[in-house]
Amino acid sequence: MKNLKNALLLKQLYRLKQLGYSYTSVVPFKEDEPDLTLPNTLDKLQKQARECHLCQLSKSRTNVVFGEGNTNADIMFVGEAPGSNEDASGKPFVGRSGELLTKMIENVLLMGRDDVYITNIVKCRPRDNADPTPTQAHTCQPYLLKQIELIKPKLIVALGATAYHYLTGDETNISKVRGTVHQQNGYTLIPTYHPSYLLRNPSAKKEVFEDLKMIKELI
Ligand code: URA
Repeated sequence: MKNLKNALLLKQLYRLKQLGYSYTSVVPFKEDEPDLTLPNTLDKLQKQARECHLCQLSKSRTNVVFGEGNTNADIMFVGEAPGSNEDASGKPFVGRSGELLTKMIENVLLMGRDDVYITNIVKCRPRDNADPTPTQAHTCQPYLLKQIELIKPKLIVALGATAYHYLTGDETNISKVRGTVHQQNGYTLIPTYHPSYLLRNPSAKKEVFEDLKMIKELI
């Protein structure tokens, strides 16, 4: 009798499976909830970011571009998102705009690229070099906020409109705010033009030069 009951039950379950149902535990959450806080070391945070699948960008990335440089840096540069060179190498700002950024750091700040920390608003490359969507940027934001919390830079340079917007919540045009000084969350934030904008508009280099000279004086 019991065998017959089980066989009928099994038949029902197979029917449901054919209709597309799948088995889910009746206990949706374990009693001991997983720890949802991000790790408190950069190495562990990077490991977690490398395994991140929270947004669509994880599906098409080659590498997670977490960030690199001096983990005790006074200055942090925040760009927008990795491009194809960065996606291939796993390092931020290694393409043409990266070369320009390195020159800006070396020639105007008179520092080495290794003296500063460089990262982006999103850690994975958007397809076709599209702007990160608000969902992608907000999903990735906890990694950036934790990087800032752990590195404790004195000054953050927001490279371009996207970085400025997601670091401050302000949508004012970058041409209006570049070179302005903002105090927030224990650090100074200065927006300037993105190096790839400078590659397309070399005449804006003089304004970035002014911004970097001010940054040099501040540190
Ligand atoms: N542009 C960015 O904003 N970030 C990079 O890492 C490279 C290009």
